[in-house]
Amino acid sequence: MNKSKDFLRRIVEEDLNSGKYQEIITRFPPEPNGFPHIGHAKSISINFGIAKAYGGRCHLRMDDTNPTTEDTHYVEALKDAVEWLGFSWDGDVRFTSDYFSKLYDYAIKLIKMQKAYVDSLSEDEIREYRGTVTQPGRRSKYADRSVEENLDLLERMKNGEFQDGEHVLRAKIDMSSPNMKMRDPLLYRIRHVHHFRAGDAWAIYPMYDFAHCLSDYIEGVTHSLCTLEFENNREIYDWVIDTLELKPPRPYQYEFARLNINYTVMSKRKLLELVENGVVSGWDDPRLPTIAGYKRRGYTPESILNFCEMIGVAKANSVVDVSQLEFAIRDDLNKKVPRVMCILNPLKITIENYEGFEEIDASYYPHDVPKEGSRKLSFSKEIYIDREDFMENPDKGYFRLTPEQPVRLKHAYIIQCKEVVKNADGEVVEIKAIYYPESKSGSDSSGIKVKSAIQWVEASSAKKVEVRLYDRLFKNEAPENLEDINPDSLQVIKDALVEPAVIEEKADERFQFERVGYFYADPIDYTDEAPVFNKIVALKDSWGKKKKAPKKTAKEQPQKVHIEGEVAAMSEEEQALFERYTKALKLNSEVANTLARDEKLSSFFEEALLSYQEPVTVANIVTNEVARELKQKEKSLLKFQPKQIAQLAKMVDEEIISTKIAKQVFEEMSKSGEEPAKIVEAKGLVQISDRAVIAPIIDGIIAKNPDNVAKYKNGNTKLLGFFVGQVLKNTGGKANPKVVNELVMKALSV
Ligand code: ATP
Ligand code: MG
Repeated sequence: MNKSKDFLRRIVEEDLNSGKYQEIITRFPPEPNGFPHIGHAKSISINFGIAKAYGGRCHLRMDDTNPTTEDTHYVEALKDAVEWLGFSWDGDVRFTSDYFSKLYDYAIKLIKMQKAYVDSLSEDEIREYRGTVTQPGRRSKYADRSVEENLDLLERMKNGEFQDGEHVLRAKIDMSSPNMKMRDPLLYRIRHVHHFRAGDAWAIYPMYDFAHCLSDYIEGVTHSLCTLEFENNREIYDWVIDTLELKPPRPYQYEFARLNINYTVMSKRKLLELVENGVVSGWDDPRLPTIAGYKRRGYTPESILNFCEMIGVAKANSVVDVSQLEFAIRDDLNKKVPRVMCILNPLKITIENYEGFEEIDASYYPHDVPKEGSRKLSFSKEIYIDREDFMENPDKGYFRLTPEQPVRLKHAYIIQCKEVVKNADGEVVEIKAIYYPESKSGSDSSGIKVKSAIQWVEASSAKKVEVRLYDRLFKNEAPENLEDINPDSLQVIKDALVEPAVIEEKADERFQFERVGYFYADPIDYTDEAPVFNKIVALKDSWGKKKKAPKKTAKEQPQKVHIEGEVAAMSEEEQALFERYTKALKLNSEVANTLARDEKLSSFFEEALLSYQEPVTVANIVTNEVARELKQKEKSLLKFQPKQIAQLAKMVDEEIISTKIAKQVFEEMSKSGEEPAKIVEAKGLVQISDRAVIAPIIDGIIAKNPDNVAKYKNGNTKLLGFFVGQVLKNTGGKANPKVVNELVMKALSV
């Protein structure tokens, strides 16, 4: 895909060009507490991909600071995932636990600098003292401990002299920081647990915010790329490195959007729950979004990497449609794998006018695939076709075999039904047919017209195989609990039939079973005596259709037959829209994709764009907010019009309201249909950036708090947060924090 560079790559390039770093070093830092999933694949592809693209290195570091949940077999799974995706890490696998001594030394240094202290408040007290978003916290009385006392306590904590929770080591930063994470964050806690690598050497373990930045620094990492939820941690990251006055070059943290996919759960904790409850067969169950699951199911590493590229790297979290991942694997296999015939649900056909036996040469690949290879198909008077390919009383538009309608057997002859044989229950058990000798594929001179070709196997040579059909593990898009499990996510067919070449020639491990889907020889359970195939993906995206049609009739509904079986998940029109959105309108590919694939949504978007030509802002509101509504209702039932969304976007761009408030306005608008500007006005939601309004409020607060002003002027600059907090409180959170900060500082400096 021809993509413009994402923001991370742009940063890396700038840093190389400016000479900030000589070499790029990134790291993939998983916690070994579960198997990696497709979200980790995104992170792997970003971290390893960037290092590779810029001639740098990427480290694989196990973030093993939480010994209760970590284990070596997860370490192995993580290594395996990185390798399977085709990357190699620089040097050995690294472990945060390798740095425990160094980290401890840094902690001592902080104590000596009077930037860290041992706190002995209880967990509850620590929480209570921290304050709230609107209220500053207060510092523990233990913060005044002497350096000597702190050093002594920390050493005894380390040696195991105290119980869990009795003390913690905290950074001394700012109890009234507007960033709650900066209110004297914890650096170490006591944990009397065995560590899978460090053994029982340590009774204290470092917290993420202390260990991560320093591990990056120790390893010489330049760009520490993580997901958006760490945005607020960036300040601590910088504080630790700056405060310790470490020798440059130092790493910097950048955040990108976390990958979420619908119809599944992603976090390791939730996946563990599925594994532990036996909902799935293990971490490598082909229905799980784990790398091990995809690998076992038959996904290729290329398809996963292509998917990661397709969704791009953006700064806004969103949910990616699983059909995009399915598209990626289909797209990859379409050009690669041999096509063979498999019958899932056999119906016997006896061809009455055929005698003897013949072998038909059949190519594994269609003409448009630049691969060569063929196998021999046996043909005789007894064959099997799929039950679904015969209908006694066909619906209109049914193109396959019926009592009146002939059909082509793929690579072979045209047959015509002569008699339908039924059992006592009236069930069709056999078809007696004739074939047309002149109709052989490739040299057909019969002049007989058929509307489709179907798969078949010869009865005496066909091999019995087990086929495992997988579907989405959850039946709803945003599953919440085990009740959302799709009960039909696994269907096992014990006696499907395949042509013998599949087992005997092993042209590949993956096959397209014509008209059925893509399949993979199960790497664990497959034997030549009892072959097992996993369904990787269907030939086309049929989930939406299936969901709408009641189950029973879906089977009987006529289906348009795609003999070569290929329908791209993105139609040409959708592809064209996608191109326009990414190239001309500069939308990020996640957003562009969501829009391009949803006609209702894209037409809404286009309409909104007519009133306000800032595609990025409009698209964000449309894909994040409007999409939810349009999923439940038709456009005509919405209370609001595209024009109103355009107005809302404009207000955000003009900083009249924050994006957060915009969500609130949208909620209101979707209920009342009121104009956004009216809602903002009626509810008084306008962000206050006007200095002339904010300044007098600040003056008032300064006048009321002479003590704090004096303290501030005597050097207690931490009280800045207190003043800012007061202004925000005074304005119901509407004051523009940037402006407030600036004005408060100015007012206090005179
Ligand atoms: P989980 O919640 O699934 O356990 P995590 O964030 O705790 O995930 P880690 O093992 O700590 O997982 O993550 C390793 C790296 O992978 C981190 O840099 C993290 O940001 C990244 N990562 C994890 N999940 C995703 C995701 N869904 N999308 C993108 N990156 C992810
Ligand atoms: Mg985690």
